[in-house]
Amino acid sequence: LRQLRSAIQSGQLELHYQPRIDLARRKPSGFEALVRWRHPQLGLLPPAQFIPLAELSDVIRPLTLWVLDEALGQLAAWTPNSPSIHMAVNLSARHLMDDACPTQVQRLLKKHGVDPARLELEITESAIIADPERATHTLRRIHDMGVHISIDDFGTGYSSLSHLKRLPLNALKIDVSFVTHMLQNEQDAAIVESTIALAHSLGLSVVAEGIEDEGTRLRLNELGCDEGQGFLLGRPME
Ligand code: C2E
Ligand code: MG
Ligand code: MG
Repeated sequence: LRQLRSAIQSGQLELHYQPRIDLARRKPSGFEALVRWRHPQLGLLPPAQFIPLAELSDVIRPLTLWVLDEALGQLAAWTPNSPSIHMAVNLSARHLMDDACPTQVQRLLKKHGVDPARLELEITESAIIADPERATHTLRRIHDMGVHISIDDFGTGYSSLSHLKRLPLNALKIDVSFVTHMLQNEQDAAIVESTIALAHSLGLSVVAEGIEDEGTRLRLNELGCDEGQGFLLGRPME
């Protein structure tokens, strides 16, 4: 944790970007910014090796602010050629408990001159159940600024539909674990289909994560899934 704190300041963190594809139009719709740590001794570390630890401490705050700053800067640099492309950034539970969060997001959007509607913040169900009322309050403020909000890894958490219906959401992201084997596994297929139906009836769009083959892409498109993300469409790239 001590090393991570100084790694943020000394430029050892980097972002990789994974494309998100509009499945019907077969065109890129945006990117998800995914953090990596280029550790001087240990090499390139995936987020699973340091984010869970960072989330237990306060380090997650400067880390997320660095990610937001970097990702919005990159989006602004890409803007001249692709004004309709959005950027998705993962937001940890701790930020939803923090009154300063909406102001910080607004400050970074201003700094880079990015239209709030081009930013999407991904939150997990567990981030909400910790304190649903406070999380809802913070998310309302962010959503009122025009920023989009999505639920990441949908279906893997313990949040109730009664919490979800009160949140100001734009999209559900179906977890990799349901999508990857949906053509082989009937239960996975049923979960994917009903999630798409649920999202659409609530007026939300749906993103499928973990598309690894053409058959899955075609099936998701048939089912009316709006966007896709996965190794078939593009891996996270420098
Ligand atoms: P996530 O937000 O659900 O990100 C998607 C993860 O699924 C990424 O792993 C991505 O590489 C992987 N993935 C994408 N397509 C496929 C596929 O077709 N098949 C399979 N099997 N996997 C695929 P990654 O980059 O290792 O990130 C893991 C998690 O780390 C993320 O899950 C997110 O929860 C967390 N994370 C990453 N960057 C940040 C960050 O800046 N802040 C916070 N708080 N968490 C982050
Ligand atoms: Mg995510
Ligand atoms: Mg996910």
